[in-house]
Amino acid sequence: MDVKLSKIVGNASLKDRISTDISGNTLSHAYIIEGPEGSGKHTLALSIAAALCCTDKDAAPCYTCKSCRKILGTGSPDIIIQGIEGDKVTIGVESVRKIKEDIVIAPNDLDLKVYIIENADSMTVQAQNAFLLSLEEPPKYVMFFLLCESSGALLETIRSRAPILRLERLEDCEVEEYILSHDNRAKQLKEEDRGAFNTVVFASNGCIGKALSLLDAQKRKALFDERETAERILSILSCPNRTEVLEIISSLGKKRNDVARYLVSVQYAVRDLLMLKKSDSASLCFFPDRDEAQELSTRYTSASLMSLYSALCTACDELDANSNVRLTLLSMAQRAGLI
Ligand SMILES: [Zn+2]
Repeated sequence: MDVKLSKIVGNASLKDRISTDISGNTLSHAYIIEGPEGSGKHTLALSIAAALCCTDKDAAPCYTCKSCRKILGTGSPDIIIQGIEGDKVTIGVESVRKIKEDIVIAPNDLDLKVYIIENADSMTVQAQNAFLLSLEEPPKYVMFFLLCESSGALLETIRSRAPILRLERLEDCEVEEYILSHDNRAKQLKEEDRGAFNTVVFASNGCIGKALSLLDAQKRKALFDERETAERILSILSCPNRTEVLEIISSLGKKRNDVARYLVSVQYAVRDLLMLKKSDSASLCFFPDRDEAQELSTRYTSASLMSLYSALCTACDELDANSNVRLTLLSMAQRAGLI
C-alpha cells in the first residue's frame, strides 16, 4: 500500500517513512510530532489516523470517504484531543487521569481510538509519569500523538517509547504556492498589496498554518503593529530621544504577554542586523527584504545593537518572572542607553 498523505506539503522523507511503516505494518502505537506552530502537526496526526481507517485501501488516505471525512473533520468521538485546559499553563495529572479512564472504552465508530495531546511539552513531570503506563501498554485500538514544538521538555522515558516525527519548515516559495492555490484571500492580498503579501509569507517562517492564519486581517494587523513598533524602537537607537522612548513604552500597554511579544519581535530584528554585520548571507528572521536590512545594519554599531539585544533578553526574563511591566521597560531602555 502506497500512502500519499497529500495534505502534508513538502516533508518527503517523513512521508516516505510513514508510508513504509503503514504498508509494512510496523507503525508505532505512539508518536511524538514535533514542529513549529502552524507546521501541520494536527494534519499529520489526523492523516495517519485516516490512512489506517480509510475504506479506499488503494489510495489511503483518500480524504473523501466517510472515515476520512469524520477523522479530518474531527467529527468522530474516537478522535480525542487533549490540550491545556481553561486558564492553566500546563497539562496536569487530572487530564492524564481522564485519558486513562477513557482509554479502556472501545472505539465508537472507527477501528481506532486516537488521542492527540496538544502542547505535550507542557505536561508536568507528574503528568508524564502518570501517562507512562498508558503509553507502554495501551489497548490494541489506541494510538497516541504527542504534539509539541520541541520534545526537549519530555522525559526520556516518554521519548524512548514514542518515535519522533519532525515536520520541517518549508521554503518561502512552497508556502506562497500553497496559500495562493488554496485561499482566495492570498490572491487578493498579493494583487492589492505585494509588500504585505511578501511579509505574510516571510513571517510564516515556513509554516503553512501560520501563513493561512495571517491572511486574517486582524491577525495581520497585530503582526504589522509588532513589526512597526520593532522598527520604531530600532530607529531611536541611532538617535535616542527620551520623550519618544517614553511614548513608545506607553504605547506598548501593560499586558505582560503583549509586551513580551513586542520585545521578542525587536529581538528578532536586532538579531538579524547583528548577523548581517558578520555575514551578508546570514539567514534572516525579521526582515523580508535583505537589501533593506543590509542598509539598516550599517546605521548601527555592533556595540549598540549588542547592548539593546542584551537589555531585551533581560527584560524578557524579568517579564517571565512576573516583574512590573512598566518598570521593566524603563530599566530596559536605561540598560540599552536609550534614556
Ligand atoms: Zn478515505
